[in-house]
This record gives sequence, C-alpha cells and structure tokens, in this order.
Amino acid sequence: MFPAQFVNDLRERLGTVLSDKILSALEEEPPVSVRVNPFKMPVEELRRHFGALAGDPVEWAPGEGFYLNGRPSFTLDPLFHAGAYYVQEASSMYVGVLFDQALVACGGGEVRVLDLCAAPGGKTTQLLSHMDDTSILVANEVVPSRATVLAENVARWGRSNVAVTSSDPSAFSAIRGFFDIAVVDAPCSGEGMFRKDSRAVAEWSPDTVRLCAARQRRILADMWPSLASGGFLIYSTCTFNPLENEDNVTWICEELGGGLMGMRHFYPGIDKGEGFFASLIRKA
Ligand code: SAM
Repeated sequence: MFPAQFVNDLRERLGTVLSDKILSALEEEPPVSVRVNPFKMPVEELRRHFGALAGDPVEWAPGEGFYLNGRPSFTLDPLFHAGAYYVQEASSMYVGVLFDQALVACGGGEVRVLDLCAAPGGKTTQLLSHMDDTSILVANEVVPSRATVLAENVARWGRSNVAVTSSDPSAFSAIRGFFDIAVVDAPCSGEGMFRKDSRAVAEWSPDTVRLCAARQRRILADMWPSLASGGFLIYSTCTFNPLENEDNVTWICEELGGGLMGMRHFYPGIDKGEGFFASLIRKA
C-alpha cells in the first residue's frame, strides 16, 4: 500500500494511465540485471557464464549491461567475488551514457572525476569501466560503514586509478576547480525503489521529500566549488518527485550557475528497471 499523497501527486503529474502503469509495476518483482567489468572479461563471456539465465541487453547500456531471467545466488559465484560483474539495477546504468557525453565534451584524455555519494559503488565501478588509466576517480562516501563496503567493491573491480574517501561533502569545497566531472547520486526519498525497499515506503511523507530536497541542495552547494569552470555535473536520484529532481536542476542552473545539457526519467512499468532520474549540467 503506497502513501495516498504519493499516489495523488503521481496521478496529478503524469495522468491516470501512466501513473497506474507505474503503480502496478511497483507491486511486481523488479528485474535483475548485471554489468560486466570490461577489464576482466568481454560481455559475451559473461553471458556464456550465466547460460540460459542471460537475457536481453539493457537498452541504454547494451555493451555492458544485461538482464537475467531469474536471480541466482550471486554470493556463491566466484566471478562475482572476482569483480567480473556488478549486480546493478538497469535504469541507473544510464549514468554511463551521460558520463560518456561528458567525457567527449571534455575532449578525451585525462580527466579528474569525483563520485561524491558513492556507496555501495554501482556508479563508481561503472565510471571506472568508462575511464582509461590516465584519468583518476575519487569515490567518496560520508557514512564510514558504507565507505568500507564501497572500498571492498572498488578493490574487487581491480583498478588502480581510484581513491576511496569518507568525508562530508563540505570537505570538498576547499579543493577549488579540481574536478572535470562530478557525479552526485544523491540520498533521496527513494520513490523509485518502493518495490525493493519497504522502509522507503514507510518513511515517505511530503516533509521527507522537502527534507531530502534541502539536503541535496546542501550537498550540491558544498561540492560545486570543487568542480572546474566548464566542468560537468551528473546529478541523479532514485525518486520521481520534481522537488528533488527538476526543481533542484533549475536551482543548480540558476543559483550555482550551470547549463542543462539533458535529463531523463526512468519509470518502472514503462522502462525495464527501477525509478531513476539523471541529469547532465555544465558549470558556467
Ligand atoms: N552512488 C551509489 C551507487 O551507485 O551505488 C548509491 C548512492 S545512494 C543513492 C546515496 C548515498 O549518499 C548513500 O550511500 C548515503 O550514505 C550517502 N549520504 C547520505 N547522507 C549524505 C550526506 N549528507 N552527504 C553525502 N552523502 C550522503
């Protein structure tokens, strides 16, 4: 059972047909998807490893992600422990598309990348797969216990051009203009994860959404000075509401000084994955 206000807001924004599709998908089992570590094996080899379980490629990440027709016991799989793949919900793999756009716009070559809210490491490991050895990534997670899990996942991925840190976003303000690309996959109200996370449903309220939106702005304002002029921000959440998504994007552009290059929503029942929002913004 979803909060009435959440359902009403969704219907008001998206209309009955679309929102009913989303709401009924949120009652179903989520799809399972994995993303290959290209430094360990080609995607075809990973597909062979999963045999009949290997399903369709993820539409927006065809060279690296694919669905599984079932959920195997990943912890019993040596390739999982060897970091040959990451179990990542499909919609969030769209960050790879925006990251590639940013890399091209940076003109190729070495880039300095910050992944500010990085645990458990889904985006971090994907960014590493898209970067070459001359570039560096700082993967930060403020919660120490989660930073430990992040460090384990990063170690499994097996790249050496990455450092894991555990600092509050405010610590980054001092590193002025250092990063070419920053990813802020922000803590959010988690509406897009309602079918996976019953706590997100229980904790949801209009006040929670407002608190999350305010916290996201704090995190973004703290990170912003560390991004170089002309650098790129990928801002994403796993929620549907505009306060945490479009309104924050507008706020970034108007208050911090950026130009929106693109954004996209993913909705369960419409896209094959969880709810996700991602945007690409260039610092003025
Ligand atoms: N990017 C991760 C991935 O792909 O695996 C998921 C990140 S999750 C959506 C958001 C993260 O932000 C959590 O790990 C959470 O601990 C962290 N976080 C919570 N409060 C924060 C804050 N005030 N500042 C920065 N990060 C915070």
